[in-house]
This record gives sequence, C-alpha cells and structure tokens, in this order.
Amino acid sequence: MEYTHLGKTGLPISRLSFGSWLTFGKQIDEALVERLMHLAYDHGVNFFDNAEIYARGMSETVMGRVLKKSAWSRDSYLVSSKVFFGAGGQLPTQKGLNRKHVVEACHQALERLQVDYLDLYFCHRPDKQTPIEETVWTMHNLIQQGKILYWGTSEWSAQEIMEAHRIAAQNHLIGPVVEQPEYNLFARTKVEVEFDQLYKTVGLGTTTWSPLASGVLSGKYNYEHPSDTRLGIEGLEWLRDKNLSTEKLEKTRALAELAAELGISLAQMSIAWCLKNPKVSTVILGASKEAQLIENLQSLTHIDKLTLEVIDQMEGILQNKPVFPAF
Ligand code: NDP
Repeated sequence: MEYTHLGKTGLPISRLSFGSWLTFGKQIDEALVERLMHLAYDHGVNFFDNAEIYARGMSETVMGRVLKKSAWSRDSYLVSSKVFFGAGGQLPTQKGLNRKHVVEACHQALERLQVDYLDLYFCHRPDKQTPIEETVWTMHNLIQQGKILYWGTSEWSAQEIMEAHRIAAQNHLIGPVVEQPEYNLFARTKVEVEFDQLYKTVGLGTTTWSPLASGVLSGKYNYEHPSDTRLGIEGLEWLRDKNLSTEKLEKTRALAELAAELGISLAQMSIAWCLKNPKVSTVILGASKEAQLIENLQSLTHIDKLTLEVIDQMEGILQNKPVFPAF
C-alpha cells in the first residue's frame, strides 16, 4: 500500500480505501463484509467510508459490528460518516446540514459504528436551506468536542467550499479539509478543472468515489448484461441509466482492448488512472465479491503501465478531457 497526506493536513491516508455504499447492509451479508474489510485492512487500507443514508443506517451498524469484532487498534484506521440525507426518517428535522441534524446524525453514527469519534465527517451534499455559516460552526464545535477529527464536503461546488473557508477564516474556525467527488474515466470535470485552484489555495484533499462507474469500467457489461450485479438491482434503474449508455459502452470496449494489450484488467487500468492523478488523495473502492477487491487492490502495482503514450491512447478513446474556461 502507498500512503499520502490528506490534502494539506498531516493525516496519513492509504491511496486505496474501501466503501460500503449499496453493499453493506444491503447487497451482501455480514460474513462477506467481514472478509472484505479484513482483506482491505490486511492489504494496508486504512480508511473505511460510510454514511448515515447507506442502507438507512444499517451500513454503519454492520461496519461497526465488524470493527468491534476485529480488535483492530483504533489508532490504525480511519472511519467516516456523511450527513445530509438522513438515515431514512422522513420528518423535517431528520435531514439537512442544520445544527440539530448534524449533531444528532453524528451521535447516531458514533453509536452505530461503535466508535468514540469519527476521523472524517462529510457534508454529503450542499444544503440550500441552511446557511453555510451554521454548518461550519457546528463542524468546528464537533471537532472541539472530540467527536470528529476532520470535516469535509461531498459534491459541493468550488464556490461553496470557498465560502466555508471564508467563514472559517473570518471566525478562526476549522474549515473543511477534504471533498468527496465522483471521479472516474467518465466523470472528470470537478477533480480536474473545477477544484484546480483549491488544491493550491486551501490545500484541498480528495477521497474520490465510483472509480469503476458502478462496475461499468470493469468491462463486464461490454457484451452482455450479467445477472447478480449492481446495475440489475431493482430500484437502481436511475444508476443503470446514468452509467450504461451506448456511447460509454463503445468507449469501454475500446479501453478493454487497450488494457488487454497492457496485460491488466480494465478495472485495474481504470483505478490506476485515478491513482495517477496526484490530486486524488485516496480512491474509494467498492466490491461485492472478494475476487473483485483482490483484483482492484492490485491496481496500485500497475500505475507505471500508464505511460504518457498509454494515457494519450486513452484520451483518444475517451474524447472527454475537461477544458479550463477560456480567459
Ligand atoms: P465502483 O464504481 O468501483 O463500483 C463498485 C461496484 O462495481 C462493486 O460493488 C461491484 O458491483 C462492481 N465491481 C467492483 N470491482 C469489480 C471488478 N473488479 N469486476 C467486476 N465488477 C466489479 O465504486 P462505488 O460506486 O461502490 O463507490 C465506492 C465508494 O465510494 C462507495 O462505497 C462509497 O463509500 C463512496 N461513494 C460516495 C458517494 C458520495 O456521494 N459521496 C457516492 C457513491 C459512492 P457488482 O458486483 O454488484 O456489479
């Protein structure tokens, strides 16, 4: 495993991490969650990602039980939660980034995860109903209380992140240090263009999600629609429609040929490409099977295969390099 610092912080984080969305508490049973988490940890993964909304709290409950049973020293790993969507409750006070919900969601996450503090606590989306100032103060206070160590955002705009920093600087509060954006061969603009200045000005770290575009970038949908996969799950039609377009599949087929020439799998090439970007602090992996996680963890050893020439070939296939706005 390789480690880096999370943005400008001193916090060491493994470049590959492991997340629980749609799998923990839902698609896979607890025995498999346990095997996957141990596999990740044994390979040096030190960050496990979670959120209140994942399986409506069950993802945190299951992860908490595995952490408790593991007897891993608390100082050997990082665990996160995210607040905004709620844990399934439909009442007005059960979601959002207002002080009441952020504090209550934090307490509930600590209880479900069976830990004394969260290492990272994310605002899962911006909340247009709550002044950013209220959220910044709340996060700062949670840090002061020892309930969270660092806080960040997910899918916030550069402007919203900078507003949080402005408020923090004005009031001598601790601002957000990390953003969790989608980043993969098909979703590039935020990480490559929008946040460009933020890496320099506020030292933004990134924990990026969906490196395989929910499995499409493994190539398994290239010529058939396998059963027993995420994009066949009832209720996830929106995710299938987002990720499985004819254009994306054409590109994925061409990328798979290139990966074969390099002697690696398309999943490994796709993850190695994310890792090659130094602005990515950690790539959060997802897996529903042990073989997938083993394959994906090996991506780190293949980064060197992505030479400038290979990257050029990939750009030729993708035709989606984000451009900076003209002056
Ligand atoms: P991926 O895009 O890598 O998708 C993971 C899924 O793809 C697996 O569950 C599996 O699904 C399939 N897969 C993985 N590896 C392989 C392989 N080698 N071969 C074939 N199929 C494979 O990542 P996720 O979308 O899961 O995102 C990772 C993490 O990021 C999440 O767990 C979560 O922690 C975080 N996240 C954060 C979000 C946010 O808003 N902040 C949003 C989404 C995710 P299957 O076998 O069922 O097809």
